[in-house]
Amino acid sequence: MGKLSNDQLRERVRGTVVTADDDAFDEARTVHNAMIDRRPAVIVRCVNAGDVMAAVDFARENGLDLAVRGGAHSVPGFGTCDGGVVADLSGMRGVRVDPVRRTARAEGGATWGDFNAATYPFGLATTGGIISTTGVGGLTLGGGIGYLARGLGLSCDNLVSADVVTADGRLVVADEEQNADLFWALRGGGGNFGAVTSFEYRLAPVKDIYGGPMLFELEDAATVVRAFADHIADAPEQLGGFPAFQIAPPLPFIPEDRHGDTFALVVACWAGPLDEGENALRPLHD
Ligand SMILES: Cc1cc2nc3c(=O)[nH]c(=O)nc-3n(C[C@H](O)[C@H](O)[C@H](O)COP(=O)(O)OP(=O)(O)OC[C@H]3O[C@@H](n4cnc5c(N)ncnc54)[C@H](O)[C@@H]3O)c2cc1C
Repeated sequence: MGKLSNDQLRERVRGTVVTADDDAFDEARTVHNAMIDRRPAVIVRCVNAGDVMAAVDFARENGLDLAVRGGAHSVPGFGTCDGGVVADLSGMRGVRVDPVRRTARAEGGATWGDFNAATYPFGLATTGGIISTTGVGGLTLGGGIGYLARGLGLSCDNLVSADVVTADGRLVVADEEQNADLFWALRGGGGNFGAVTSFEYRLAPVKDIYGGPMLFELEDAATVVRAFADHIADAPEQLGGFPAFQIAPPLPFIPEDRHGDTFALVVACWAGPLDEGENALRPLHD
C-alpha cells in the first residue's frame, strides 16, 4: 500500500474525518487539559472498529504519528498530537452488561459515567475512576485506581478481555488465552500497545453506596491525613476514599461565604450494606 489521501480515508470510514479546513476542527482537537493546544493533521471520529483500523492504516502508510483518544483526560495530552493522526474513540461509548456472567463490555471511548449508568440498574459495578468523565480506556490501560479498589482490585485487575487494533491494522482479541502477552501489557502498560476498541470487565454486586466529600479546616490537614491513614489501613475492604486539598466549589452544602476557600478534604465511599455506612464513616467524621 502506498500513501493514502484524506479523500481515500473519508471513503473508508463510517465516522467523520476532520482536518484544519473544517469548521469542527477547533472543537474536535480540544482535550480536557486546556494547557494542551495541539493541531493534528487528521482527526478520525471513529464509530466502529473498522474506522479505528482505517485510522491506524492511514497513519502507518503516511508515516504519521498516531494518538488514540478515549476520554481525553490525559494530563500531558497523550490523546492528541501535533501534525499526526488522532483516532478519536469518543463516539464509541456503548456498554453492554451481561448480568448472568456478571461482565460488561464497554467500547473504547466510553467514560466511567457511561459505564456506571449501564451497570447500576443490575446492581453491579467494577473499580472505575473517581470522576465520571474520565475514559475507561486510558484509566484501565494505566492501572486504574478508584473507590472500589481496596475490595475489587484495580480496574486492570478486572479486565477480562480486550479487542485491540494493533499497529499493522489488524483487530485481535487479547485475554488470558489468546495473545496473552499483549493482554499482560494492556493491564497497566499504558496506551502504546494498540487501540482498544472494546474492554470486557468482571463485575461485582455493588449498587447504592454511602459516602461523599467531607471538608475540614485547612489548619487541621495534618490531623485529617493522619486520621485517614490510621483508619484506612485496617478498615473493611468495602471502604474506599482519599484525602486531598480542595478549593470549595459553589455547591449548596457549602456555606456561601466559604466558596473559594481552600479546605482539607476526605472523600469516602462505603460499598457495603447501606445501613452500616454511617458507622463505617464515623471515625472519619469524628
Ligand atoms: C479529572 C481527572 C480525574 C482522574 N481520576 C482518576 C482516578 O480516579 N483514578 C485513576 O486511576 N486515574 C485518574 N485520572 C487519571 C486518568 O486515568 C488518566 O489521565 C487516563 O490516561 C485518562 O484516560 P482517558 O481515556 O480519559 O484519556 P485520553 O487522553 O483519551 O487517553 C489517555 C491515554 O490512554 C490512551 N488511550 C485511551 N483510550 C484508549 C483506547 N481505547 N485504546 C488505546 N489507548 C487508549 C491514549 O492514547 C493516551 O495515551 C484522572 C484524570 C483526570 C484529568
